[in-house]
Amino acid sequence: MNPPSPAIFLDRDGTLHHDAVYMIRFEDFHPLPGVEEALRILQEAGYRLFGVTNQSGVARGMFTLDQVIELNDKIRHYFSEHGADIEEIAVCPHLPEGTVAQFARDCDCRKPKPGLLLDLARRHNLDLSRSYMVGDMERDVLAGLAAGTRAVLIPPREMARELDNTGRLKEFTTLLDFANSVKSQHQRGF
Ligand SMILES: [Mg+2]
Ligand SMILES: [Zn+2]
Repeated sequence: MNPPSPAIFLDRDGTLHHDAVYMIRFEDFHPLPGVEEALRILQEAGYRLFGVTNQSGVARGMFTLDQVIELNDKIRHYFSEHGADIEEIAVCPHLPEGTVAQFARDCDCRKPKPGLLLDLARRHNLDLSRSYMVGDMERDVLAGLAAGTRAVLIPPREMARELDNTGRLKEFTTLLDFANSVKSQHQRGF
């Protein structure tokens, strides 16, 4: 077996694209500035790319898991046409207080729990200790740290800074800023 690869785990809503509440139509997909370039830089620096997204709208009966998967495939296709290959976008469809019986339960995959990352790591042979979780919410950071990755927070402007800055957590203003920082670390041989 090949040695495990480092990866970037990306939150979807609010990290790859402007957050639209319970977004299900590709027409509502508007990437944040510089995200395409950021993903290309991270990929060229040797990281495999994955999405990890909570979609409680499934448990709430607002849309189906199949619709989410279809939307995710379109988002992946959009980025692949821009030179960035997101191999899979893993979904948590659960919510304990949901109305769809099949998904109305406590689970191990709804961020801040690390289940989506642990499952991706197992199935895709990823090295969590050399990977990053990137997101716009505290629960993204916590999921990454719980899975054993480093974590990056790209907070929306209104977010209060309540997280301790540990050595494993860094904040950036945009995904592109983060990607350029990874690139320069690699160029300096870290
Ligand atoms: Mg988000
Ligand atoms: Zn779940």
